[in-house]
Amino acid sequence: MTTIGVLALQGAFIEHVKILRRLGAETREVRLPADLDGLDGLIIPGGESTTIGKLAVAFGLVEPLRAFAGQHPTWGTCAGMIFLAKDIGNDRQPILGVMDITVNRNAFGRQVDSFEVDLPVKGLGDEPFHAVFIRAPIVTAVAGEVQVLAALADGRIVAAQSGHLLATAFHPELTADDRLHAYFLNMATQAK
Ligand code: GLN
Repeated sequence: MTTIGVLALQGAFIEHVKILRRLGAETREVRLPADLDGLDGLIIPGGESTTIGKLAVAFGLVEPLRAFAGQHPTWGTCAGMIFLAKDIGNDRQPILGVMDITVNRNAFGRQVDSFEVDLPVKGLGDEPFHAVFIRAPIVTAVAGEVQVLAALADGRIVAAQSGHLLATAFHPELTADDRLHAYFLNMATQAK
């Protein structure tokens, strides 16, 4: 069985756990470095990236998470995507800095900071994915091996993959569509 950890410091972690269980994965909530032992993959959920960063520092998780994400399938959604990025345009908050993407936090401004849109996503087939954006970041630049998986109609990038690293600006755990979780579970199972 494939075991997926979900970073459970703050934010929407329970929703990821529920979908993963429904898909038949073993799950573990990650709060301490030892919780990473033996995991086949890790999800870093949405929430508030500054808070997740602070708590990760407080629990001694930054280096262990960086080492894990350097080697094993890791998926960041929204704040989790910010946490994975190499460049977020400021050095005031702790990040893992493992994925070759530049991310702009809170990219949609205040009035329209939450919206939903049907989005074609590479690798998920013809049916668009109903994507929920909540004070979402966008990817402003990709480098290295990074492949763009989804962009808004105006071209702004909202999902990307770089080998074993996956990043989505939206919240797939808040919809009934489990195709992205199945996609990530498959990445983790293949990498075992
Ligand atoms: N605005 C949050 C941040 O900058 C991310 C929002 C989310 O995860 N839904 O961390």
